[in-house]
Amino acid sequence: MTSPQAVVVGGGLAGIAAAVAVAKAGIETLHLSPKGPPDRRTSALMQPSVAYLQSVGLVNDPAAIGQPLTQIRIIDATGRLVRAPETLFDSRDAGLAAFGWNFPNVKLLESFDAGRTGLTNLRTLELSVTGLERVADGWRLELGDGSTVTAPFVVGADGKKSLVRVAADFRARENGFTEAALVCDLELGRPLGGASVEFHYPRGPFTLVPAGGRRANLVWIDDRDVLKAAQAEGPDALQRIFIDKSQHLFGDIKLLTPAHMFLLSTLSVDEAGHDGIVLAGEAAHAFPPIGAQGLNLGLRDVADLSAVLAATDVAAPGWAVRASEDYSRRRAADLGRTGVMVDTLFRSLLSELLPTQAMRAGGLWALKLSPQLRKQAFSVGMGVR
Ligand SMILES: Cc1cc2nc3c(=O)[nH]c(=O)nc-3n(C[C@H](O)[C@H](O)[C@H](O)COP(=O)(O)OP(=O)(O)OC[C@H]3O[C@@H](n4cnc5c(N)ncnc54)[C@H](O)[C@@H]3O)c2cc1C
Repeated sequence: MTSPQAVVVGGGLAGIAAAVAVAKAGIETLHLSPKGPPDRRTSALMQPSVAYLQSVGLVNDPAAIGQPLTQIRIIDATGRLVRAPETLFDSRDAGLAAFGWNFPNVKLLESFDAGRTGLTNLRTLELSVTGLERVADGWRLELGDGSTVTAPFVVGADGKKSLVRVAADFRARENGFTEAALVCDLELGRPLGGASVEFHYPRGPFTLVPAGGRRANLVWIDDRDVLKAAQAEGPDALQRIFIDKSQHLFGDIKLLTPAHMFLLSTLSVDEAGHDGIVLAGEAAHAFPPIGAQGLNLGLRDVADLSAVLAATDVAAPGWAVRASEDYSRRRAADLGRTGVMVDTLFRSLLSELLPTQAMRAGGLWALKLSPQLRKQAFSVGMGVR
């Protein structure tokens, strides 16, 4: 395939899903997926995302690679004057067997990889993009081995620092936080069952997500320096910190993997597509891992990309530009809504302002007491459209 109709840049979860979606639309596709370090994160994917992955054959049996999430338990550990009640959300209140599933990203990547077999119009190269420029018949991409490739349609799924986004002049706003996220796998003295347990501390949540049996995945958000200092103290000290932070509710805690730190920021773009280029996944949006939204939103990007391409006549002149504009229009509301929701949640948690703390506590009381409000919150959080 010397001149593909589309190039998908990025070998993360959004990139592979996008490459499969573009190829399944019958388009000659080149996927540029350089090898990187293993992705040690885990992803809580809500039921609509899992249903989408099953429908396109990227995940066959969620139970074979993940754990169901049936409850979300929120414990206010802020010690503030106005505190929220302990709140338990149960998937049965939303009429569901589970809110979603928690997957290790490495298992999802394996499953996504298996999902691309048999697509003869999809070719993958382990090469990165080093440059991108507009040419008469689309976009010319310079590749890591010095070669070039030209295509009318390009999908930038090359992560938060996206070269595609920058080179194609997408306007983006990025805000760095002093907080970071520490992640690792733990063995608890007592199992979580299907409950994801969030302890809300003043600088961010300390969240234990079920990973099967007595295993849990930890996502601890706190000031970057606090996390660095904790990490530097070594595994024994970390285990003691984790026991304290989990308020001794789960007994002894053993560290199963080294702890890794991720810097946090928000990123949003004014538009997700123009001139034959579209952005998907963290190339288009990033925010702190609160309320499990990042990859869920990335998969909604891919689902919309599929829908746009299915409605596009790729034999007609100018199809790529039209598809990128349709995609941009289609994604605008979801990207705006989800970004505002996560930002508001995160800032309300960190806020030192008493009225904001009162509003957050009041909001959780209202959710605790009103089944109707809980149902609405479930729909928004799960990205039901
Ligand atoms: C601690 C933490 C916990 C999270 N938990 C959840 C969760 O529970 N649920 C959820 O929905 N989301 C979660 N997220 C968010 C989720 O992990 C991300 O949204 C998702 O993994 C982003 O995938 P991506 O493919 O867009 O980007 P990435 O995974 O960053 O992939 C980008 C890819 O592009 C490649 N690339 C970069 N530059 C180039 C180039 N020039 N040429 C070619 N390739 C290039 C990279 O090698 C990489 O493979 C979490 C995030 C963090 C930090």
